[in-house]
Amino acid sequence: MSSLQHKISELLDDLEDYFRNQRELYGNDLYTEKDLDAIWKSPQEIKGRALDDLYREVHDCQRCGLASKRKNVVFGDGNPDACIMLIGEAPGREEDIQGKVFVGDAGKLLTNILAAIQLEREDIYITNILKCRPPQNRDPQQDEQSLCSCHLFRQIEIIRPRFILALGRIAGQFLTGESDSNMNELRNRVFTVRGAQLMVTYHPAALLRNTELKRPTWEDVQKFQKLYEQ
Ligand code: SF4
Repeated sequence: MSSLQHKISELLDDLEDYFRNQRELYGNDLYTEKDLDAIWKSPQEIKGRALDDLYREVHDCQRCGLASKRKNVVFGDGNPDACIMLIGEAPGREEDIQGKVFVGDAGKLLTNILAAIQLEREDIYITNILKCRPPQNRDPQQDEQSLCSCHLFRQIEIIRPRFILALGRIAGQFLTGESDSNMNELRNRVFTVRGAQLMVTYHPAALLRNTELKRPTWEDVQKFQKLYEQ
């Protein structure tokens, strides 16, 4: 018998002993600390379930003062196993009413921008730094961003995107940690944030207010497309 055959034979003997002991202890039920169900589930299902669990926590969140003013928590939407995440700053009026991210005119514009770089909303995951609407759409305050960030970071941890596009100055400053940088300083750069490559462009709502921002935004998203297609 070769040494390899000898090793395999020893291994099989060990396995037989192991299963005999297991049967004596637990009968015919296989005992394991692993979640055997998870073996048969796709990453999309596993991550989707983790996001559902997180949503249930965030739904009742009272960590900051915005909880008392919201109509709905706006958690996020899209493919739980997406390799691209888009992150804006906070829900607006329409999002607060519907409980969904990027609906209304800014949402439609975002959908069109994505289509121009061959992305469907179902392919990616979209969320905001804050999950509740600031009154009159004012800028999120520093303490609100810090208190809500645990939810966003958990979403990133579950989804594990390879690329992130930050929408607007607030999201760009928060995610890069460059709180004093303006949009010109944040755009046209690739940051590494939580294991993902991140770029910054204008928020679709800003484009609705100032159409001159459409061209630089188009240039930004083309660069982002090149980044994720490489
Ligand atoms: S904004 Fe975030 S931290 Fe504040 S109540 Fe809503 S979910 Fe909680």
